Amino acid sequence: VKSIDVHTHPIFFGEGRSRREAASLVKRARSFGIERMVALGDVLVHGRLPTEPQVAAINDETAQLMRWHPEFFIGFGCLNPTLGERAVQHEVERVLALGFRGLKLELSNNARDACMAPVMRLADRHELVVLQHAWSQTVIRERRFHTDPADVAVLARRYPNVPIIMAHLTGCGVRGVLEVQHLRNVFVDTSGAAPEEGIVDYAVEKLGAERVLYGSDWPIRDFPVALARITGSDLSASARRRILHDNARHLLRLP
Ligand SMILES: [Zn+2]
Repeated sequence: VKSIDVHTHPIFFGEGRSRREAASLVKRARSFGIERMVALGDVLVHGRLPTEPQVAAINDETAQLMRWHPEFFIGFGCLNPTLGERAVQHEVERVLALGFRGLKLELSNNARDACMAPVMRLADRHELVVLQHAWSQTVIRERRFHTDPADVAVLARRYPNVPIIMAHLTGCGVRGVLEVQHLRNVFVDTSGAAPEEGIVDYAVEKLGAERVLYGSDWPIRDFPVALARITGSDLSASARRRILHDNARHLLRLP
């Protein structure tokens, strides 16, 4: 089965930087039918509040992967919105010039915070997809900087024209699906924690298959485990094809 993986960290705490490691990742992913991969960068290598040069260095490493394998990697730029509007604008313009298709928000701030305004205005203006870290805060309880699905919903209501991928379906859970159910600009990726029977089927029932996207969070979860969340479900062949491949192709406007 062909697929596009929308949530990966090809470089993770410094591992995966070399040309040889990148080539071996591409080869292994292809052996599972993964045709393309969204590379989110080594988002926490400098902690949750990277400086401007650290953010730029992370995104430059992603750009290097794209230069080595332009037909495979799709870059999303990581940002630290707490650095302020000028820094955010500078980095968004830089990653746009490097051919990135989206932005990744991690643990610098909560998605409700005012510092997200310039990020979302730029995403809207430049038609970038926003992938927002999310996890149920009834589990983690660090809401000051860990975004809850309810916070994703607030962000999505404020910026209805920006497509937002809420990360980690399994970490967001049933409540997370319900929080974003009626927000048409919110998609969810299937990564997060260990696979849980029924959760992908539940997301499809509430959101429709067109709003669920395959993501692994590699190397945190390996491809066979991540793919089996979908291939081991009771979903129809057409729903599986959308989740694994077609939705990402449309959202990222791939040929
Ligand atoms: Zn991730």
